[in-house]
Amino acid sequence: MSSMVNTTRDCCVTGVPTFNAAEQDTFPLHAYIIFKLGDIIAVEKFLNIKGHNAIYPCRSCKIKAVCGLGKTHYVSLRPPKDGGPTRARTIWQPDNLPLRRHHDFIDTVTQLHAATTKIAKERIAKQTGIKDLPAMHRVGSLDYAQSVPWEWFHLLLENIIPNLVDFWTGWFKDLDSGTEDFEIAPHIWEEVGKEIAAAVQHIPASFVHVLSNIASDRSLFTAESWCFWFIYLAPKLLENRFTRAKYYKHMCELAEIMQITLQFSITVKQVDEVEKWLIQWVEKYYYQYRVERLPACTLTIHGLLHLGAGIKNCSPVWTTWTFYMEHPGHVLRPPYKTPRGIDPELQQKIANYIGQVLGKRSSEVKPHLPPVSFLAGKLRI
Ligand SMILES: [Zn+2]
Repeated sequence: MSSMVNTTRDCCVTGVPTFNAAEQDTFPLHAYIIFKLGDIIAVEKFLNIKGHNAIYPCRSCKIKAVCGLGKTHYVSLRPPKDGGPTRARTIWQPDNLPLRRHHDFIDTVTQLHAATTKIAKERIAKQTGIKDLPAMHRVGSLDYAQSVPWEWFHLLLENIIPNLVDFWTGWFKDLDSGTEDFEIAPHIWEEVGKEIAAAVQHIPASFVHVLSNIASDRSLFTAESWCFWFIYLAPKLLENRFTRAKYYKHMCELAEIMQITLQFSITVKQVDEVEKWLIQWVEKYYYQYRVERLPACTLTIHGLLHLGAGIKNCSPVWTTWTFYMEHPGHVLRPPYKTPRGIDPELQQKIANYIGQVLGKRSSEVKPHLPPVSFLAGKLRI
């Protein structure tokens, strides 16, 4: 990471030769980092925090996690009603969480560096969730508390929606429905899967590239599949499929929140509404405030409470999500290097990708591409 920071600093001065796909020309790119984007694990490593299984696991607030029946910590707003081994008593107000500030990171690291023993350092890290300075601490344009929004793509499409389906089909971490009744019978779920498969031939590929029978071929679902299915198909396909309508309503509310937050532009008033809506949505039906159901309180569910702040601090989700980085991964898969050097097919693969984006043939793009080069071991696109 430090070599990347050094290279980034040098490149800000001299510029990075970059191919402009629209103009089919190369120009020196001068870029300064104002946001850091990535999935939860990447951001934890970037911020140098203890992360998702820590006592203070959240990068945005100082909520204290609750230990479940095993050694895993979970992030619930209220302690379990049946107590359990946790002895947690704190009730956190979702609209008034103890937010982290940029200076919390700086102050904690000052304490860590002043501590003289390993035990003292570990105690500070345990009590704050912060291990050391963020990897890009020499980049002064970053606010460690506000420049790292919870990323919509991984939060919803890679975690929360697949987890919801796991709940409905009885496969979420060995949890049954508890005192609720949200599971969908297997024969109904199979019917839903067949209806999706039958609909595929009528859906243009420009809407969604991969869609399959969710009951039998779920492993084929990509993030794009989950997004299209949940927002556009599930509200129709799952109507009257749940035993009680409240679970269907709960699902549709999230689909509507996703549509609102996906808008090209969004007002502060809309974000305020989304925040209130998400507060009502989080922890409903699946946790039931029972200690054995704490696994329902994942950090990703908690992250929804910070989604609105991320939009307010950093702009609409389409500007900060990682979809544009993850999507070409289907075309440009690593390794980009072979034992003999750069992958000889790489130039063609890049031309294929840019051609897809521009709606042109790769043969039209390829003659204008500069030679492939690597910066700090990464392929830049
Ligand atoms: Zn938090």
